[in-house]
Amino acid sequence: MTFSLHGIAVSSGYAIGRAQLYSQDRLEAPHYLLRPEHLDAEVARFTAAVEAVRAEMLELREHIPEGAPVELSAFLNVHILILNDSMLSDAPKQRIRADRCNAEWALSQQTEALIVQFESIEDDYLRERRNDVRQVADKVLKELMGHPGHAPLKPAEEGDSILVAHDLSPSDMVLFKRHDFAGFITDLGGTTSHTAILARSLSLPSVMALHSARALIQEGDWLIVDGVAGVVIVNPDAGILDEYRLRRNQWHLEQKKLRRLKTSPSATLDGLEVELQANIDLPNDVGQALGENASGIGLFRSEFLFLNRDDLPSEEEQFEAYRHVAREMVGRCVVIRTLDVGADKSVRWLHEKSVNPALGRRAIRLCLAEPQIFISQIRALLRASHYGQIKILLPMLSSLTELDQALALIGAARGMLRVEGIPFDEETPIGGMIEVPAAALSAEWFAKKLDFLSIGTNDLIQYTLAIDRTDDTVAHLYDPLHPSVLALISHTLMVGRKLGKPVSVCGEMAGDPRLTRLLLGMGLTRFSMHPAHILTVKQQVLRSHIGELAPQARKLLRAGRPDRIQEYLEQINR
Ligand code: PEP
Ligand code: MG
Repeated sequence: MTFSLHGIAVSSGYAIGRAQLYSQDRLEAPHYLLRPEHLDAEVARFTAAVEAVRAEMLELREHIPEGAPVELSAFLNVHILILNDSMLSDAPKQRIRADRCNAEWALSQQTEALIVQFESIEDDYLRERRNDVRQVADKVLKELMGHPGHAPLKPAEEGDSILVAHDLSPSDMVLFKRHDFAGFITDLGGTTSHTAILARSLSLPSVMALHSARALIQEGDWLIVDGVAGVVIVNPDAGILDEYRLRRNQWHLEQKKLRRLKTSPSATLDGLEVELQANIDLPNDVGQALGENASGIGLFRSEFLFLNRDDLPSEEEQFEAYRHVAREMVGRCVVIRTLDVGADKSVRWLHEKSVNPALGRRAIRLCLAEPQIFISQIRALLRASHYGQIKILLPMLSSLTELDQALALIGAARGMLRVEGIPFDEETPIGGMIEVPAAALSAEWFAKKLDFLSIGTNDLIQYTLAIDRTDDTVAHLYDPLHPSVLALISHTLMVGRKLGKPVSVCGEMAGDPRLTRLLLGMGLTRFSMHPAHILTVKQQVLRSHIGELAPQARKLLRAGRPDRIQEYLEQINR
C-alpha cells in the first residue's frame, strides 16, 4: 500500500531505496532486589559500565574518522559532559544502595527522573537535550546488559538503502557516514537538534520529525525521501517512482555541474564582482568554507564557542580559535561576530530568565551589561588580528548609545594591549549588524562610525514583522519578501553606497538562490551563507546582468502587493 508521511525537510535532494530499519528499541531494564552484601559489587559494576562508555567516547573523539561531520567532536563533548555529570554517573549508585536494586533499574529510574525535569524546561534548545541524556543513558544500559555498542549495520544491504530510525545520536551519525546509505529518516528531532545540524552537514537527503515512520515502515519497503518538500513516500507505485527517479537524476546532474563552478570567478555577465563568503559556527568549519572556495568568512558565529559548557571560554582559548580560522583562511577576510547569546541561544552560566527572550538582554545588550566578558572577547579578537584579516562584527545594535559604548570598550581593550606590548592590527575593521528595524533606519548614523555593515535578515524579518523565528505556529507569516523587509534592506544598501561603506547580507536570504538575482538587482555584492549554498548562489550570479536586474528590482520594491511581488520575482528569475 502506498502512503506518505510528512516531516521537516532537513537536507535537500531525493533518495530512493529500500528501508533498512535501525534497531534502537528502548532496552527494557530488568528489575531485581539485591542482598546488602552484594551492593558494593553492583555499584562497582555500574562504575565499570560508565567507565567503558566514557572510554569508548574518548576513543571516538580522539580518532574522528576522516570525512565525519565537523560538529562531531563538539557533540561528543556534550555527551561526555552529560556522562560526567553526577546526576547520571553518581545518582544511580545512591539509588542502588537506597533501593537495593540492580544497576540497570537504578539507571533507568534516574534517567526517567532527569527526562521529566527536562520536559518542563521552556527553552526549546535545552529541552531537546533530553534526547542527548537518553542516548548517553542507553549506551550505559547497553553496556550493563552486555550489549556494548550499536547493532551492526549490514554492509551487504547498503547502496540504495534508506536508514529508518526512531532517533539517531550524533555518534550514530559517524556509523552512518562510514556506511553508504542514500538517505535517512527519523521520527524525532527538531530543527535545532544536534542530529539535524549534523544531517545538514552530511548533505544527504533527509527528513525528520516524522513521528511514526519507524512503526509504520517495514524492513525492505520501497521509500522515496523527498528532502526538498520534507515528504517520505512509502511503497510508491511505478509512476511515482519514475517521476522521482527523474527528479533524483536531475538533482545529481545539477550538483555535479555545480562543482565545476568552484574555481570560476564570481562575477555577473556585465562584469560586476560578487563576493560569496561563508557562515561558520565552529573553527573547524573553515575546511568546508575553503572546500567551496568561499572568498572569506562573512560570519563566524562566535557564540558556539560559549554553548554546551558550564564555564566561559578564556581569552586564551578564544584567541586560539580565532587565530586558527584567520590562519587557515590565509589572507581572506574573516568576520567574527561578538557573542550573540540570549533569545534562542541560551548559555548555562547565564541564569537570568527573560520574560520575552527575543526582546530581552541578548547579544550586544548582554555584552554591555557584562563588560568583562566583552573585553575578554575583544582582546582575543584583536590579538588574533595580528595573524590574519580579522574584522569584528557587533550584533543586534539598536541605538547609537549602544554603539558608542561598544566602541569605547573596544578602545579600552586596544589601550590595554598597547600597554602590555601585545601586537594586534591597529586597523582592525569594526562593523555592525543590521538586525532590527531601528538599526536599518539609523544605518546612516551607524555607517559613519563603522567600517562596514552586515544585514542579518533572519532577525531583521523577525523584528520587522513581529514574528518569533522559533515559533512554528507563525512560521507561515515569516516572509523575506515582505515590502517592509525589502525596503529596510534596500535603504541599508543605499546608505552603504552613499558613504562608501561595504554592506553584506549574512542571514539565510543570502543563501537562497531564488533571492540572489533580486538582491543583486537591489545592489548587493557581498553575500555570506552556509558553505553548502555557495555554488548554487554562484550559478545565479553567473547568469545575471545587473543592468537588466536593477530596474526589475526597483519595480518589485514598489509593488507592495504580495501577488505582484511574486509575479515580479518570477520575472527576475526567468
Ligand atoms: C541573522 O539574524 O540574520 C543572523 C545572521 O544572525 P543569527 O541567525 O545568528 O541570529
Ligand atoms: Mg541574528
